[in-house]
Amino acid sequence: MKPQVVFVLGGPGAGKGTQCSKIVEGFNYTHLSAGDLLRGERARDGSEFGQLIDSYIKDGKIVPVKITINLLSKAMEETMQKDEKKFRFLIDGFPRNEDNLQGWKDAMDGKADVKFVLFFDCSNEVCIDRCLERGKSSGRTDDNRESLEKRIQTYLLSTRPIIEQYEKLGKVRTVDASRSVDEVFADVKAILEKEG
Ligand code: UDP
Ligand code: MG
Repeated sequence: MKPQVVFVLGGPGAGKGTQCSKIVEGFNYTHLSAGDLLRGERARDGSEFGQLIDSYIKDGKIVPVKITINLLSKAMEETMQKDEKKFRFLIDGFPRNEDNLQGWKDAMDGKADVKFVLFFDCSNEVCIDRCLERGKSSGRTDDNRESLEKRIQTYLLSTRPIIEQYEKLGKVRTVDASRSVDEVFADVKAILEKEG
């Protein structure tokens, strides 16, 4: 079975990770956060990319796709090798720019199906407030005002155009993510039940 993929996109702090955790409780999906995979690689002893990843994340820039796609495809392969019925994936926080999208196409066209994009739509103000709140305990090096301004710029300039491309293909399912976790999840659930 080919991997069936839902890309999960939205600004920093839009709630992608939170909602993905709730999805996997009730649906047969595996959650892969590109950001978490990169942070894992950054922390891995002997990683040749640790420094690079660290500086890109602090700067709110997008890591070269070769690194990210390797981590994603390895995680998908490992999941499916352990259990062949686990071929549905939520890929959270990817693709974030043209380089990411091209890298995905080069590596995955014909090998995985992108079913749709789940888009958590949220104002920049709400995104910033949530990340600053999260920053009090997240320990993340990029949940501070300086990094956040750069992350929002990257999101607006690089990620929104990717969402628009999928929009033109009729592949975006948009959720108003400025509401409470449970209200947002009610919409997410309805979308997933409909899409199967
Ligand atoms: N990142 C990246 N490529 C990806 C995903 C994440 O380079 O495909 C980097 C980027 O610097 C981003 C950071 O990791 O700003 C944090 O991403 P994450 O998805 O964890 O942030 P969130 O959107 O969940 O707040
Ligand atoms: Mg996240």
